[in-house]
Amino acid sequence: MAKYRITQIEDYEQFIGSESVERIRGKAGKLKGLRVANFNSTYYGGGVAEMISSLTLLMNGLGLRTEWRVIQGRADFFSVTKKMHNALQGGEIDLSSIKKQIFEQVIYENSIRNFIEHDFVIVHDPQPLPLIEHYEKKCPWLWRCHLDLSQPNAKIWKYLRQWIDTYDAVIVSCPEYKQETKPPQRVFMPAIDPFTIKNRHLSDKEIDERLAHYKIPTDLPLVVQISRFDPWKDPEGVVKAFKLASKEVDARLVLLGNFATDDPEGEEIFNSLCACRDERILILTAGDDTALVNALQTRAAVVLQKSLREGFGLTVSEAMWKSTPAIGGNVGGIRYQIEDGVNGFLVSSVEEAAERMVQLLKNKKLREEIGSKGRETVREKFLLTRYVEQYLDLFGTFDKDFCLRE
Ligand code: UDP
Repeated sequence: MAKYRITQIEDYEQFIGSESVERIRGKAGKLKGLRVANFNSTYYGGGVAEMISSLTLLMNGLGLRTEWRVIQGRADFFSVTKKMHNALQGGEIDLSSIKKQIFEQVIYENSIRNFIEHDFVIVHDPQPLPLIEHYEKKCPWLWRCHLDLSQPNAKIWKYLRQWIDTYDAVIVSCPEYKQETKPPQRVFMPAIDPFTIKNRHLSDKEIDERLAHYKIPTDLPLVVQISRFDPWKDPEGVVKAFKLASKEVDARLVLLGNFATDDPEGEEIFNSLCACRDERILILTAGDDTALVNALQTRAAVVLQKSLREGFGLTVSEAMWKSTPAIGGNVGGIRYQIEDGVNGFLVSSVEEAAERMVQLLKNKKLREEIGSKGRETVREKFLLTRYVEQYLDLFGTFDKDFCLRE
């Protein structure tokens, strides 16, 4: 056997069947050798890097020459872009001219270092958006926005539209994120890679070993939320809900988080959460150990993703894939993954979250039923193969003038 290998489309046959594998292979065959460049702003931390990593490998496996480039920036650049990110999700922003200068200058500098000779350019999220301005356009450019765009702040939207409108297509994660734009829009929901260390099957022994390594006791059922330390993920609400539920059930909460290089807010939120630590509430920052993420999602009695805004929420599908019941905030992309009361629960308040926690923790049969429906949902709708196929279909739909044939 070769020393190194990457996941190939045929590895998915066990999940999606041979017909789907052949269909995808056929579509990719027509695009063999196509050169695709992806630009985003972080190598790791957050769902976008996670997906680009797996997607670019699978596409290469399918014969498309797919690259991944990460733009460089200093702390002040990422501080500005995080504010833009928040404003695109509805927050306020003071869009001063200095912020605009920092943003635009850094992107210009990145364009100097990046040479593009591709057949498609995919730009992820707002950070690298203005790149397009600095190239002679020789191929279709796609803006892939992963954020919850349902109510963008008007100021930021107006400012960014000067670039958005020069793209050839916009891809958003949910139908309600579509906004008025010049380019046509498509909806691609995110998806997970079942072969990564984060998502592959772990044995009980492997799980025990990981949990022991981080001194996570297993004497009580675990309630887990795994998220960047970000206000939209509502870690405080999770702690409150857990404290309420604890009046009725014995359990332990684990909040695991990491810090993305393009997200300067994490540190502060983490520090404020630490005040809540006690024997039943663990706040951990070992989130870059993806085997630990897997171990927690697999072993948890309940996984929470109590977001107040959520572009999609990969952690929900990750938990469902492991047959662990998930309770998600009734927002954004979480609503497309969880059908309330069928394969998980949707909640809109701390009290509701606490109630569902209690209900699940008290009822093993319910956990198993919901868990197995969750896995089936992900198998059908949220595996990477569906996502790759959507890209292949999109690539195949552009004409020579970079227009999408409807
Ligand atoms: N994640 C992780 N460790 C952490 C926190 C998050 O590996 O401590 C991963 C998580 O498993 C998921 C991704 O980061 O794959 C987060 O994606 P999601 O869509 O849930 O949220 P985002 O961070 O993109 O807003």
